[in-house]
Amino acid sequence: MARIAAIGEVMVELSPFPTTESTDKEVMALGFAGDTFNTAIYMARTGIQTDYATLLGDDPYSTQILNLASSEKVGTGMIETMPGRLPGMYMIRNAPCGEREFYYWRKEARARELFADKAHTEQLTKQLMTCDYLYFSGITLAIISDHSREMLLNFVDEYRSQGGVFCFDINYRPRLWDCQTQAQNIMMDMMAHADMALLTLDDEAMLWGDGSIEATIERYKGCAVKELILKRGAKEVVTLVDGNEVHIPVPWVEGVVDTTGAGDSFNAGYVSARMQGLSSEEAAKHGIHVASIVIRNRGAIVKKSNFDAEYKGLQL
Ligand code: ADP
Repeated sequence: MARIAAIGEVMVELSPFPTTESTDKEVMALGFAGDTFNTAIYMARTGIQTDYATLLGDDPYSTQILNLASSEKVGTGMIETMPGRLPGMYMIRNAPCGEREFYYWRKEARARELFADKAHTEQLTKQLMTCDYLYFSGITLAIISDHSREMLLNFVDEYRSQGGVFCFDINYRPRLWDCQTQAQNIMMDMMAHADMALLTLDDEAMLWGDGSIEATIERYKGCAVKELILKRGAKEVVTLVDGNEVHIPVPWVEGVVDTTGAGDSFNAGYVSARMQGLSSEEAAKHGIHVASIVIRNRGAIVKKSNFDAEYKGLQL
């Protein structure tokens, strides 16, 4: 069976915990999340052999992250821990206007040092080479140094030359980049090395000012990317495979409560189905199904029992 490794950052998450008691104290729930980690968990839940590659500390929260990965059957052999260090953290706040606001403490997070140390990089790339598929995002790229990005890009080249399939989600987060031009240059570079690109129209609009699907597709036509998937929230998903454009409708979802993790879980569903031999259209339907479960439940990583109760499998 094909194996995949996802690379990136998983953080401690503190989110408002609804209480029935009247109190002026804010009660927070502890969780763990990160775009590539969320995707890794959903890939494993859909039956794919998945590994997660990151750097953590040796604190109780890093240990909980490792335990969570193991309980979800996500391989932890590519996670290195270092004494005295910590994972990053973010806090979610329900603003009075009803919007959710995110506050981050991630500058000292150990994951920022991925691909920085020569010996560790050699060991990690050897492990990654044993996987058939590789997945990471623009967030993974944004948090590491210029030197590390170069190391990663070189590795992707070598990985693909040996038959590995590289899947990339741009996941543009402006505040993680020095400036928009830097992000544009690096993303374009990466797109030229991607086999499968899973994009969101909102990100493309933010990064490039795209006003239409056509504008996005036109820009990437010159890239080597063979398979381009464009997510657009509740609107139909567009796939472009070998120049063939297909629009896949997104059925109406009743009871949407939280769209956090929608794109990450869609990606998991899509890539997982492709890894199991389904067509890109079938894979998009699978991605839409996986995301539909996630948005009807709270949190980026929904409770496994809730997910399993609704997950229908590959054939939809
Ligand atoms: P991201 O979370 O990266 O912004 P999107 O919002 O485009 O990604 O959502 C990814 C996928 O999640 C969509 O392609 C769709 O399948 C599903 N989705 C998101 N929002 C909705 C919604 N309101 N109704 C139905 N499906 C949705």
